[in-house]
Amino acid sequence: MLVTGASIAGPAAAYWLERIGYEVTVLERSPEPRLGGQNIDVRGLAKQVLERMGLRDAVLAANTGEVGTRFVDAEGATVSEFPAEAGEGDGPTAELEVLRGELARILTEACGDGVTWWSGDHVVALDQTDDAVTVTLAGGDEHAFDLLVVAEGPGSRTRGLVLGEEQPELKRLGMYMAWATIPRTDADDDWWRWMTVPGSRSVTLRPDNLGTTRATLGFMSDPVGFEEGTREEQVAELRRRFGDLGWEVPRVLDALEAGSELYVEDLTQVIAPTWSRGRVVLLGDAAWCVTPIAGAGTSLALVGAYVLAVELSRLSPGRPPTDAFARWEDWMRPMVEDAQDLPPGTPRLANPETRLGTALLRVGTKVAASRPVRSLAGRLTSGPDDERGLPDLPA
Ligand SMILES: Cc1cc2nc3c(=O)[nH]c(=O)nc-3n(C[C@H](O)[C@H](O)[C@H](O)COP(=O)(O)OP(=O)(O)OC[C@H]3O[C@@H](n4cnc5c(N)ncnc54)[C@H](O)[C@@H]3O)c2cc1C
Repeated sequence: MLVTGASIAGPAAAYWLERIGYEVTVLERSPEPRLGGQNIDVRGLAKQVLERMGLRDAVLAANTGEVGTRFVDAEGATVSEFPAEAGEGDGPTAELEVLRGELARILTEACGDGVTWWSGDHVVALDQTDDAVTVTLAGGDEHAFDLLVVAEGPGSRTRGLVLGEEQPELKRLGMYMAWATIPRTDADDDWWRWMTVPGSRSVTLRPDNLGTTRATLGFMSDPVGFEEGTREEQVAELRRRFGDLGWEVPRVLDALEAGSELYVEDLTQVIAPTWSRGRVVLLGDAAWCVTPIAGAGTSLALVGAYVLAVELSRLSPGRPPTDAFARWEDWMRPMVEDAQDLPPGTPRLANPETRLGTALLRVGTKVAASRPVRSLAGRLTSGPDDERGLPDLPA
């Protein structure tokens, strides 16, 4: 079996599919491991998946150390705060907050010797019969596999080759995000500090476990091709849009101009009519990107990888994989649709255009930080949970 993509969904699938007896090859397009990215959180049922992998302690040990979320004003003064509290359901800061690159590393290292790792190549053509999927790689090699799992993230190219006329709807949320890794200074603490300012802009700073600080710059905008620009163009655009701000923003922009790591995204949900065709199945953001705004992408990838293995392991001898893919999709769809069903006005309401809107939002966060509302919000942000519970792998 071939799995394409080695971020979260890919290695998680490799782990479980090897466990149920497949020989797995993982192909990552990037020649080097992509260790970038920021906090991602593991919530709801996905915590149980990590437990079943025996990785909960490893992820806890790699925790970013974030102690909670603080909304700040334009000068950086605290407006309201949401401490991370164990046992009350996860709030904005989850119990398992980990850097994306750290979780990718932990999942990769957890895979056994039955997993082969290829990198620096990608699928450019594929052909399916009843028994096999043959892929042609950009480097020219051709390989046949029994199954193909496409875990290439929201911009997946292989998805286009697989779905033919049933291409997904790509639903822009109207917001660009830039993630930066900048030097940590004495001005930083262990809170996720979040500033929203007029002009539908936000800037956040978060601690990590690697001695650096993770910054985000977000802005609402019609499509302007920001994500397609060169790094230099992106940094110049961020200076143009955020250069008037105070607090720690000049430091973030200076760090970017000095070469700090930058990753940008035009937040776009992937809404696909189907997640499989024949012997090929889409997994994670390639199938159903919910965007970081929904805060559930990593959890859905982990749950999706596990349940896929459960359904494949239950496949009766002689039956085609399409049976398992169909049962898996039935199981996952309600959870994914729930995560994609963002509250009306998201993300516009959290990023107001005007001074008045920004002032009202700050008051709103104060109300939300009060204890009764906080425990309700904790339940709402506790991630993909499901009354069904996780299915079990056959013993
Ligand atoms: C560099 C990076 C940084 C990120 N930073 C954040 C963040 O800060 N906050 C956040 O909430 N989410 C972030 N994400 C997204 C987050 O990882 C996902 O939403 C979630 O974990 C689901 O992961 P996934 O494995 O389905 O997809 P992704 O994490 O998008 O991973 C897809 C993987 O497939 C690889 N790939 C792409 N095309 C091909 C191809 N044709 N063949 C083979 N491999 C291919 C990519 O290089 C990548 O490694 C980031 C993703 C990446 C790749």
